[in-house]
Amino acid sequence: MTQLIQHILQKQNLSKKDIVRLLNSDETERKSLFAHAAEVKEAHVGKKVFYRGLIEYSNLCGKNCLYCGIRAGNKNAHRYEVTEEEVLEAARYAWENKFGSLVLQAGERSGKDYVRRIERLVKEIKEMSNGELGITLSLGEQSEETYRRWFEAGAHRYLLRIEVSNPELYHRYHPQNKIHDYEARLQALHLLRKVGYQVGSGVMIGLPFQTMEDLADDLLFFQEHDIDMVGMGPYIEHEDTPMYQYRDQLMPKMDRFYLSLKMVAILRIMMKDINIAATTAMQAIDPMGREKSIKVGANIIMPNLTPSRYREDYLLYEDKPCTDEDAEECKRCLEARIHMAGGEIGYGEWGDSKHFARRRKS
Ligand code: SAM
Ligand code: SF4
Repeated sequence: MTQLIQHILQKQNLSKKDIVRLLNSDETERKSLFAHAAEVKEAHVGKKVFYRGLIEYSNLCGKNCLYCGIRAGNKNAHRYEVTEEEVLEAARYAWENKFGSLVLQAGERSGKDYVRRIERLVKEIKEMSNGELGITLSLGEQSEETYRRWFEAGAHRYLLRIEVSNPELYHRYHPQNKIHDYEARLQALHLLRKVGYQVGSGVMIGLPFQTMEDLADDLLFFQEHDIDMVGMGPYIEHEDTPMYQYRDQLMPKMDRFYLSLKMVAILRIMMKDINIAATTAMQAIDPMGREKSIKVGANIIMPNLTPSRYREDYLLYEDKPCTDEDAEECKRCLEARIHMAGGEIGYGEWGDSKHFARRRKS
C-alpha cells in the first residue's frame, strides 16, 4: 500500500481522491507523506521559521459561532480589552527581541471608535518600531473601508479563516442570520485581496459531521482561492458552547492531531510557496504539536505575547496552552524546540509569503 502513497506523492497535481487517500493514510504510510512534505518544504521555503508575536487584544465579540468559547452568548466568559500601553509594551518586546512581526487578534467588533482605536494602534506600533515590525490583523469581517484604513495605517497581512469550506457545514456551525453568512465571509476574503493584504485563511479539523471529503475540499479551496498563508488546526470542544453537545461524536483528540498534521503536510505539497502556521491548537493536544507541524511543512509560529493577566480569558477551547507562561519563558523554550525540529528562526525578518511576492509579480 505504501507504493500507492509513493505513486500519489510523485504526482504534479493532487486530485480530491488522492487527497482523501492521503488523509486516510495509516501509520507507516503517513511517515512517507511527512518525509515528502519535509523535502518539499526545504526545497521551496527552506528551513526558516518566522515569528509572529501574538497579542490576543480582546475577547469581546459580537458574534456567536457555535464552537467558540468567547462567543457573545457565553455569559461565563470574563471580558477584557488589552490597554493601549500594554499593546505597545508587547510590541516593543517583539521588536527588541527581533520577532519581525506581530499579530493582533480579537473577537469581531465594529463601530467607529473601535475602528479608529485599531487604526491608531497600528500606526503607533509602526512608529515605535521605525516601520520594522510587520503587522498581521485577525479581527474578523469588516467593511472594505475599514480594511483599507487599517491597511493604510500599516497592517499588511490579514487572517480570516473560512472555518469550513462546505457552506452546508458552515451553516450548521453558525447561527442562521446575516452576521454569520458563508457568502459574506467568502466576499471578505476577496475584499482583503482587493485592498492589497497578504491574505490568510484556514479551517478547523475534526469538527462533528466533517468528512475526509470535506477536508480535501478545504485544501482545494485554499488552492482555488490562491491563499497566501494558512493557519489550521484541530477543533477542540469548549463546554460553554452549543457544539459541546456533539462531543461524543468527535474522534479522539490524538486522531484529530494526526489528521491536522496530515492536512499541513498535504497542503505544503499542494501549495509549495505559501506560509503555513503551526497553530496553538496543535500544542493544546500535544505539547510538541507546533514543532511537529514545523517538521512536516509549517514555517510560521506565533509565540503568545498577550500580557499574562488576560491569557486565561482568551479561552477559545478547553486546555488552551501557555496561559501561565510569561513571554520570556515562552521565547527560550520555543527557540530550543524549533532547533530540535530542524528549523532556524528568521530573527528580524518579516518572512512574508513567497507566494504573495510571486502573485504580485505575475
Ligand atoms: N474573531 C476573529 C474570527 O473569528 O475570524 C478572530 C479570532 S477567532 C477566536 C480565531 C479562530 O479561533 C477562529 O477563526 C477559529 O477557527 C478558532 N477557534 C474558535 N473556536 C475554536 C475551537 N473550539 N477549536 C479550535 N479553534 C477554534
Ligand atoms: Fe467571535 Fe471569532 Fe469566536 Fe466567532 S470565532 S465567536 S467571530 S471570536
